[in-house]
Amino acid sequence: MSNRTADCIELFSSIQGEGMLVGLRQVFLRFHGCNLSCDYCDTVSPAPPAVCQLEGTPGRRDFLPAANPVALNRIVGILEGWERGWPGLHHSLSLTGGEPLLNHETLQEWLPVLRRQLPIYLETNGVLHSALESVIQHIDHVSMDIKLPSTSNCGDLWDRHREFLRVARDKKLFVKTVIGSCTEEWEISRTCETIAAIDRTIPLILQPVTDREGGVSIPPKLVLELQELACRYLAEVRVIPQTHRFMGQL
Ligand code: SF4
Repeated sequence: MSNRTADCIELFSSIQGEGMLVGLRQVFLRFHGCNLSCDYCDTVSPAPPAVCQLEGTPGRRDFLPAANPVALNRIVGILEGWERGWPGLHHSLSLTGGEPLLNHETLQEWLPVLRRQLPIYLETNGVLHSALESVIQHIDHVSMDIKLPSTSNCGDLWDRHREFLRVARDKKLFVKTVIGSCTEEWEISRTCETIAAIDRTIPLILQPVTDREGGVSIPPKLVLELQELACRYLAEVRVIPQTHRFMGQL
């Protein structure tokens, strides 16, 4: 088994709250650290925590701390136990963060082992295309963000998103983009053109900014107009807010 380690925040079982697999039960492995700094981010802290919280029983929040960085055998031991005790419960293992691909060298060794337990679902900000290329053979699903300047304040990432789409296109792939009351039509057009240049059947999720209580502040009329605009370019455009927020952060 790999000797490589990674700084992680937590490992737990919950319901996927966003995107095309919303509602399915997954195991979430949350990595520390991100290469971006989105205005709406509430997950990234500058320094890794001293410990990673590992759930003992799926969904019971009976966490036990493990010193960071965490070794692969700690993760695999839990997954094996859960697959034995609750066969069929989990659809897949969600690699989330932060940005999991910052750990791509570790993932090259971890993923073949983890994938023996569950299919691999990658949640990514969609810019580290070289890192993705190094692990893409071990990944089943890709949930990729396209960051709009109006909501993320991350600047111009269009070329990097395009390259990322090229690498991810042969996987079960969808794109998610956060929209708010300040989102402009040109941003949705640019997003759709970027996706359609690769494949117009890649689904796009418009995700209204959702506050901690589950409130959505973007006017409904604007959401409908942005969806109508996107449907001129793409075959499948869905509006899905962050459902785990109004279910109490499951
Ligand atoms: S990409 Fe995700 S984790 Fe990184 S800063 Fe943006 S919202 Fe936070």
